[in-house]
Amino acid sequence: MNIVILGAPGAGKGTQAKRIAEHYGIPHISTGDIFRKQISERTPLGVLAQSYIDRGNLVPDDVTLEVVRNRLAEPDCKEGYILDGFPRNVFQAEALGGITALDAVIDIHVPVSRLMARLTGRRVCPGCGESYHVDTLEGKNTCAKCGENLYRRADDNEATVAERLSVYASQTEPLIGFYNSLGLLKTIDGDKDKESVFAKIRSVLDGLYDNH
Ligand code: AMP
Repeated sequence: MNIVILGAPGAGKGTQAKRIAEHYGIPHISTGDIFRKQISERTPLGVLAQSYIDRGNLVPDDVTLEVVRNRLAEPDCKEGYILDGFPRNVFQAEALGGITALDAVIDIHVPVSRLMARLTGRRVCPGCGESYHVDTLEGKNTCAKCGENLYRRADDNEATVAERLSVYASQTEPLIGFYNSLGLLKTIDGDKDKESVFAKIRSVLDGLYDNH
């Protein structure tokens, strides 16, 4: 199954994509994670990507497409994949359509009014990628799964989040209509706890897997 997960920044795409990947045994491909790895290794791609990411803007389409094209060509993608954070605009979606055929697009919907607080309070584990919200950490700053110290993403500050939300509204949200018209869209209410959201996603995907 070739799956895309859509949603605003802070909707819980990464969290759910990780669970989907583990449950169905398919690779989780996050363009944001790929860029952050390149940034931490200070590669030329990382240096370029960082200048956009720090401002909350999108990395140029040609650069991003090259990254995705290369990743999808790897052997572990033969049995399917879950793409998280790509496509981010109609140009990328059309280009993706030329590379691969999708089976489903899951849109995790969370009211815009909830996103700023979700993102500015987000803390991430550098080891396993699990994310938390400060309000639920009770003063602790370690990952419940692997014990590592949590960090705050550089682009989770208020100014950058505001720009990311604006970029989402103007460039990424139109993909909901794009994929709906292709009959691929499955909308999930993301304003619930992680387990309930995942249960809903599973019920949608199990139906598709049965027919696959
Ligand atoms: P994410 O981890 O998905 O929130 O992505 C973090 C940042 O990486 C975004 O704000 C963009 O600057 C950049 N990025 C991730 N995916 C893409 C993409 N498909 N196209 C352009 N930029 C991207």
